[in-house]
Amino acid sequence: MTMPQVRMCDVTECYYNQGQVCKALAINVGGSHPQCDTFTPSRQHGGPASIGQVGACKVTQCLYNSDMSCTAPGIDVSHHEQHADCSTYTTR
Ligand code: SF4
Repeated sequence: MTMPQVRMCDVTECYYNQGQVCKALAINVGGSHPQCDTFTPSRQHGGPASIGQVGACKVTQCLYNSDMSCTAPGIDVSHHEQHADCSTYTTR
């Protein structure tokens, strides 16, 4: 099983965001709500990866969730209130 890529993230205030590209090695997506738990507000930007991947997803009610992992071909992340949400989330 390969980890899906974060194709686009418009949460540019995150440390890991460079030009709407996520540079985290692997993000975690949260529990009762599909939020990016790796979101880190910062004026500085960096990250070790050329493109982020989804390491784990705890949103078991999502169509793409299998064994606490994401099986989507890729995900997009965007703003929801003051945090970042997986916008690829699809209720089963
Ligand atoms: S997907 Fe999450 S960790 Fe990556 S840039 Fe967006 S908010 Fe930050």
